[in-house]
Amino acid sequence: MMNSFWEQDTFLKKADLAIIGSGIVGLNAALQYRVLHPNARIVVLERGTLPTGASTRNAGFACFGSPTELLDDLQQHSEAEVWDLVRERWEGLQRMRAKLNARQLGYVHHGGYEVFRAEEEASFQACKAQLDYFNAKFQEITGWQGVFSVVDDYLPNFGFHGIRHIIRSRVEGQLHPAKMMHAFHQLAVQKDIQLLNGFEVKALDEDGSVVNIQSQNGISIAAERVLVATNGFARQLLPELHVQAARNQVLITEPIPNLKLKGCFHYDKGYFYFRNVGNRILLGGGRNLALQAEQTDKFGNTPLIQNALKDILRTIILPQQEVPIAQWWSGILGIGTQKKPIVQMHTKRVGVAVRMGGMGVAIGTSIGERAADMISKI
Ligand SMILES: Cc1cc2nc3c(=O)[nH]c(=O)nc-3n(C[C@H](O)[C@H](O)[C@H](O)COP(=O)(O)OP(=O)(O)OC[C@H]3O[C@@H](n4cnc5c(N)ncnc54)[C@H](O)[C@@H]3O)c2cc1C
Repeated sequence: MMNSFWEQDTFLKKADLAIIGSGIVGLNAALQYRVLHPNARIVVLERGTLPTGASTRNAGFACFGSPTELLDDLQQHSEAEVWDLVRERWEGLQRMRAKLNARQLGYVHHGGYEVFRAEEEASFQACKAQLDYFNAKFQEITGWQGVFSVVDDYLPNFGFHGIRHIIRSRVEGQLHPAKMMHAFHQLAVQKDIQLLNGFEVKALDEDGSVVNIQSQNGISIAAERVLVATNGFARQLLPELHVQAARNQVLITEPIPNLKLKGCFHYDKGYFYFRNVGNRILLGGGRNLALQAEQTDKFGNTPLIQNALKDILRTIILPQQEVPIAQWWSGILGIGTQKKPIVQMHTKRVGVAVRMGGMGVAIGTSIGERAADMISKI
């Protein structure tokens, strides 16, 4: 079907900047570009009715790295890289909270915890030995004193089974990911940023001073510059990027009367995570149980991971309680061998801001802003 003259003269009119993907990164890039260019025509192209990746499907931890995660990162990356990333996560959340208030984010500050089973004594001791060092670094970055502390005396309050140790992080909070995205969406509309949903980009054709963007259903739009913010799906459009799609499966329980547990919890070296959502429990993770199978950009739930999550819920988190599960879902991450986002120009007119790992709630705002600054310079 041909578009009308009217459509081509408005919705599909040539853009100064077209952003592909309306997740947290895409929308923040659009908002920042508006700050830099008050009169620019900015279009965000999203294939789903809703953003359909990770930003509305995650766990909503406003977190900066649990002790085992930090220890692990220090094995894989230089010290400077590890603390730069913590800083990036901290600053990203400050940037987000400068744009949206606690009500818009559904933000609650209950703190975060890492829990250790009896058989993880060595891992706990290794973390405990580093807490003074971690606290000094966190104080430098966040200004908060004594961020991490061992709080084994809290364990009876939570009622877990088989957990021997617990380390608290005072700085962590939790939010409602879809409220956050809804508020960013509203902000974008207020700022005259055009969002086109149902626009699945199939090809980018750079031709001199313009990029022609082709959609799945034959509609096209031209833009002077393009930012690809499709995270875990990046290789569908740009196969040469070093981004691996990875699925994460999640459950949420029905409301639980008198639920004592409050906060964000990291379990089994962060392979699993759980939190309260009001008086429900959200639990996710377990990708390590089927690494190959979960390296996919297809949504879905599998019995292997569902059974592992149900088992943790019923034996460790809520022992001796039969709590019905209300809902399952999944989301798609973009990960890589380096725990670092890719923010770079891909060609002269096409930039990318992808590979947010499991940290996009924290870093997404500032990565989007950084990407807009980058693409603004061409
Ligand atoms: C289950 C789960 C739990 C998580 N928990 C946390 C957490 O607690 N804390 C934290 O910091 N991070 C967490 N993350 C990670 C975080 O959600 C992501 O890093 C972040 O949302 C990535 O944002 P994004 O904008 O880069 O990508 P996305 O939100 O995935 O957005 C990409 C968008 O691009 C669109 N798109 C893709 N291809 C095309 C195309 N060809 N044309 C048009 N549009 C396209 C998609 O539909 C999607 O809307 C979690 C992730 C998952 C999956």
